[in-house]
Amino acid sequence: MNYRRIRRYIQKKVKNTFEKNRLLEKYRTREKRRVEDIVKKVTATLVETARVYSADIVRENLRDMKMNSKKVSRKMNYRLQTLPYRKIISNIDYKACERGSNVIEADAKRFLITCSPCRSVDKRNRVDSKFKCKKRGGLA
Ligand SMILES: [Zn+2]
Repeated sequence: MNYRRIRRYIQKKVKNTFEKNRLLEKYRTREKRRVEDIVKKVTATLVETARVYSADIVRENLRDMKMNSKKVSRKMNYRLQTLPYRKIISNIDYKACERGSNVIEADAKRFLITCSPCRSVDKRNRVDSKFKCKKRGGLA
């Protein structure tokens, strides 16, 4: 159902102002509830998938969130990019914490694999929690 179309239809066809406002309010509430429902479902699926694959959830910025695992479907990542962000983020942080998954800010992640003396950024710089620069072969 397309709520924008419904709204436009009401604006155009309903002449009585009181009735018009009543209807608009009704569909506004319904749409809001529907979005909240989707957010809840997506969050639950995301966090559960992260747990199953032991993947970290990487948040690149407010508009771009991806799962750090190739096994996570493109469709899933796409859905994540088209939903109300702040709501999802607070939901995910809470749920992920509850289930023991990590939510990582991409900048923080980049920082973890950057060698500060030579500035090389390499995923292999960090094995588990130990840092060793691949380029120089030494510790930072
Ligand atoms: Zn280095």
